Amino acid sequence: MAFRKVRPHKKVCVFCKSKSKFIDYKDVELLKSMITPNGKISARRATGTCAKHQRELAKAIKTARFMALLPYVAD
Ligand SMILES: [Zn+2]
Repeated sequence: MAFRKVRPHKKVCVFCKSKSKFIDYKDVELLKSMITPNGKISARRATGTCAKHQRELAKAIKTARFMALLPYVAD
C-alpha cells in the first residue's frame, strides 16, 4: 500500500509568524535552530522559511559569525 506524504499543517515561516520586523543576530538560540550541526544555513525546505526571511536570516547568521556568536563552517 502506498503512502502519500500529507502535511497536516502547512509549514509557515517562523519569522513571518513572529512580530519582529528583522532577525536579531544576537538571538543565538534562534539562529542555532536554523543551521545544521556543521554550522551551515539550513535549506528553506527544511525550515519553512520564506525567501525574504531566508535572505535576512543569512545576513543575521553572517553577522553572528562575525561577532563570534556562531561558528563558521567547520571544514
Ligand atoms: Zn517570512
